[in-house]
Amino acid sequence: MVKRLAAVRGQDRAVALLLRYLASGKVPPGILFFGEEGIGKETAAEAFAAALLCRTPGPGGACGACPDCRLCAAGSHPNLLHVVPENRNILIDDIRLLQEELSLKAFSDRPRVALVVPADRMTVQAANALLKTLEEPPPGTHFLLVSHRLSQLPPTIVSRCQKVPFSPLPREVVTEILLSLPDAGAARQPDAIRAAAACSGGSPGRALEVLEEAEGERENWLRLLTKPDAAAISRTAAGWKGAGETAPLVAVPLSILRDIALLSSGVEAAIMNEDLGELLRPVAARKSPDGWTRALRELLAMSRMPPQAQKPLMLEAFLFGLHGKE
Ligand SMILES: [Zn+2]
Repeated sequence: MVKRLAAVRGQDRAVALLLRYLASGKVPPGILFFGEEGIGKETAAEAFAAALLCRTPGPGGACGACPDCRLCAAGSHPNLLHVVPENRNILIDDIRLLQEELSLKAFSDRPRVALVVPADRMTVQAANALLKTLEEPPPGTHFLLVSHRLSQLPPTIVSRCQKVPFSPLPREVVTEILLSLPDAGAARQPDAIRAAAACSGGSPGRALEVLEEAEGERENWLRLLTKPDAAAISRTAAGWKGAGETAPLVAVPLSILRDIALLSSGVEAAIMNEDLGELLRPVAARKSPDGWTRALRELLAMSRMPPQAQKPLMLEAFLFGLHGKE
């Protein structure tokens, strides 16, 4: 499906500016989409490219139905050129290749659009080469640069582009966006999503990363609790120094231990990790309800401690203790 500008969430000012460019028919040859990572710049740049290529764009961007939109959606529009780093950087050869393509006659009568993502990964030589093209852009060609590290871009490039700023989103909007995504994992429950949104700095992309980390952490803790694996216990404990523990990650073992305590007391209905019920039930049977409640309190107390050197040792002792006799 082709991306539409009207569907870019929470960036009303940027979208309004882009729609004004389209409506006026005066689209600058160089546009720089900048702002924090994971807040919709690339999506907006792709949607804007689609709107430029669309034969019958509407007030919200590309129509989604014309032959050009279909080519865009398939990722095969001949006038849409992507410049991305092959490894770490965008090299001068990548820019030369782009310039060569632009020097050839276009396949279609639509404008030509070059997406440079992330533009701040261009080497100095690559940026200088692009600058020459930006100074004398071929007619009907638009360069869309996307960057979350503006300070890494040469000022000469920045000043050649019209700037479209993107802002971090309010926490509620990040939560809404994540809740509206198709469920891609059992850890993506509303509570986990809200916790991830709260520490995402207003970036849905960052919130998704936090959720992915939390999913990995859930699997890790499940293994730690089901069988005594000394190496895994030491590895996890070493990570608990204090400073790096983001709330959603600490929330993972706490929610699992809480569920085990509930299962051990015979309270099935209130568990948070419903999908883990089958796996947690035998773990719950290993201790008395009181034993699990004490363990939960102990972990909670540890998670609230300020950073300190003994913390990994304490967590290690705690985890080995869980597998010992009461
Ligand atoms: Zn279209």
